[in-house]
Amino acid sequence: MRILIISDIHANLVALEAVLQDAGRVEDVWSVGDIVGYGPRPRECVELVRVLCPNVSVIGNHDWACIGRLSLEEFNPVARFASYWTTMQLQAEHLQYLESLPNRIIDRDWTAVHGSPRHPIWEYIYNARIAALNFPAFDTQLCFVGHTHVPLYIREDEAQANIAPHHPADGEVLDVSDGRYIINPGAVGQPRDGDPRAAYAIFEPEQRRVTFHRIEYRVAETQAQMREAGLPESLVTRLAVGV
Ligand code: ZN
Repeated sequence: MRILIISDIHANLVALEAVLQDAGRVEDVWSVGDIVGYGPRPRECVELVRVLCPNVSVIGNHDWACIGRLSLEEFNPVARFASYWTTMQLQAEHLQYLESLPNRIIDRDWTAVHGSPRHPIWEYIYNARIAALNFPAFDTQLCFVGHTHVPLYIREDEAQANIAPHHPADGEVLDVSDGRYIINPGAVGQPRDGDPRAAYAIFEPEQRRVTFHRIEYRVAETQAQMREAGLPESLVTRLAVGV
C-alpha cells in the first residue's frame, strides 16, 4: 500500500497536480494542513483535497485564518493580505470543508498534525530541542507534521541527544521498522529550503518505509496566476528560489 503524504499546498494548484502525477498510483492521500493561503487557486485546491483525502486531512494555521479562527493580526502584512484575498475567493462549501477539519488525527501507529503534537496549529519543529519536547506529546510510533515547509525527519533518540534533524534528499528512503519518528514531507506549494521544487513523501506501512521526493513543476505558471490575481510580488518571486 502506497500513501501519498502532502503538506502546505498553499493554493498552488500547478504544484499539486504535478505531485499527483509524479506520485503515480496510490491507495490514499493524506494532507497535513495549509491547503490555502499565499497561492492563486484556493477553491480548486480545497475541492481537490476534499476528494483526494477523505480519511486524513488536518487543518493548518492558514486554513484557520480563512475561517476566522485566527486573528489576521498574527500574520505579517503580506500573509495578511493573501489571507484576506483567499477568504474572498472561497465559497460557503469551501469554508464548511475547512471548518470540518480536525487539528489532529491519530490512527493505528501514526499521528498527523500540522505544526506539532504539543501545539497542532502553531509550533514549528525545526530542531532537535523542539522535537525532543514533542516526542512525549504523542503516543504513536510516527508523527507526520508540516508547517515549516522544509522536509525533515528525526528519530526520538537523536532528538534527545540533540542530534540535528535529517533533511532528506530527493529519493531518500527512511526505514521506520523500529524507533519513533517525527516526519515532515516538505511543502507542495511553497518550499522554503532553497530548493523551489515541490516536495512530498510516500508512506508504505507494510514495508515500514517513507520515501521523500522533490519534483520540478511549472513555477512560472503559478507565478503568472498570482500576478493576475494581484497577490504581493514578494510571494510571487519567492517561489522561484524556494525561500
Ligand atoms: Zn504553511
